[in-house]
Amino acid sequence: MTSLVAALLAWYRETARPLPWRATTDPYRVWLSEVMLQQTQVTTVLPYYARFLAQWPTVEALAAAARDEVLAAWQGLGYYRRAHALHETARLVVARGGWPTELAEWRALPGFGEYTAGALASIVGGERVPAVDGNVERVLARLLALEGDPARGAARATLRAYAADLVPAEAPGEWNQAVMELGATVCGRQPRCGECPVAAWCAGLAGGTPAAYPQRVPR
Ligand code: SF4
Repeated sequence: MTSLVAALLAWYRETARPLPWRATTDPYRVWLSEVMLQQTQVTTVLPYYARFLAQWPTVEALAAAARDEVLAAWQGLGYYRRAHALHETARLVVARGGWPTELAEWRALPGFGEYTAGALASIVGGERVPAVDGNVERVLARLLALEGDPARGAARATLRAYAADLVPAEAPGEWNQAVMELGATVCGRQPRCGECPVAAWCAGLAGGTPAAYPQRVPR
């Protein structure tokens, strides 16, 4: 494990917000949180997450629910296609006899992009794979002082390779959550580098303009 990885993991273990989906590796609970957190703030998600689990404590229970009930429980969370997809996926998981056990299987589920599949495979399955969302992309682009748009071409390949290299075999899911947490709390749009546990390794900070990364190229 590199010093950077050890420093960020230590910070995460000490300071991470105690969110309910971080206390479990139950695929149903982790997956539900990932779907709810797409486009929605943590504080908004928390009561919905608790209510959903009280109403449907297992994927089998959710799969057996009526679509109208699921949509009613989702009311207020927005982006209702997520509720439809959630219900569909629950039915599919039950029909296939259970949750995937590796990245390729997660990726094959409808609606599972690279990020979500990586998050589930690492957090639930302990697989050594990255999970690159917008927060992670921003943090890694700054650590590397990455030239170019990390969503495209050579810069994207460089960032993805770096993301994959960093994941420690001993704690892949925790690591992915730690990078996300850094991006969500300290390394936001205006980074607070004075509070950052990995400032010593940050090329963006060393260059004097960390907020200049990631370099987005307008489409
Ligand atoms: Fe982000 Fe600043 Fe930390 Fe670099 S030093 S990772 S820019 S918060």
